[in-house]
Amino acid sequence: MGAIGGDESVQWDKMNGAEVVNGGGSGAGSLDRIQVLVRVRPLSDKEIARGEPAEWECINDTTIMFRSTFPDRPTAPTAYTFDRVFHSECSTKEVYQEGVKEVALSVVGGINSSVFAYGQTSSGKTFTMTGVTECTVADIYDYINKHEERAFVLKFSAIEIYNEVVRDLLSAENTPLRLWDDAEKGTYVENLTEVILRDWNHLKGLISVCEAQRRTGETFLNEKSSRSHQILKLTVESSAREFLGKDKSTTLV
Ligand code: ADP
Ligand code: MG
Repeated sequence: MGAIGGDESVQWDKMNGAEVVNGGGSGAGSLDRIQVLVRVRPLSDKEIARGEPAEWECINDTTIMFRSTFPDRPTAPTAYTFDRVFHSECSTKEVYQEGVKEVALSVVGGINSSVFAYGQTSSGKTFTMTGVTECTVADIYDYINKHEERAFVLKFSAIEIYNEVVRDLLSAENTPLRLWDDAEKGTYVENLTEVILRDWNHLKGLISVCEAQRRTGETFLNEKSSRSHQILKLTVESSAREFLGKDKSTTLV
């Protein structure tokens, strides 16, 4: 990440992020396909009790400012620019509406999309992603209810990567799963459970199962934090009811 002091700032995401993830060379249009958002969480009660100051401040919708409070290491304030920054008073709903919704809902139109949270332990990844998942699923079901002309099938799978080992969170078996590369499917997880969803409550139940299955590693920062990566995958398939069972029927995935 680059940084310049004072009131200049760096457009970090466009320079470094997009090319790496898109594999490079797919043209200028690909740049807009990655959005980098920052969310600042409020100080915890412990942090407040210890008298720790908030060093990060969102000065507008896209810029975040770092002011070091180390007395023996004074540095100039540094500004960083992202597609969007959310200050600590923002609700998860706002983060979702303004930062995530469009990307998440593009799946119903056949677009492959992913939302992931990256950050230090205790920075608020689980808190944010739990809310974001809830909002996304509510909106997807809302979309389905409003489009009765199409028949939808939703499939759900979930894995955990812990110490480089891949585990199926929807299976009681503890055997590590293997990753394979396939010319057509890309990278996939062998023998992964995929559940066809009955309704939203079914999915809520499965997400709780995943949460219970996750290993909790103890760290100094946050006793409840799990030092593992969780990937939830929802596949949305739909076909026009009018053509169901006929030659012309096609399925959008
Ligand atoms: P991570 O998953 O990144 O390790 P958590 O999501 O577990 O971090 O968050 C650490 C703690 O901070 C939790 O107790 C969580 O409830 C709280 N927290 C995180 N983000 C917020 C927020 N935006 N508002 C209020 N509390 C938050
Ligand atoms: Mg977490």
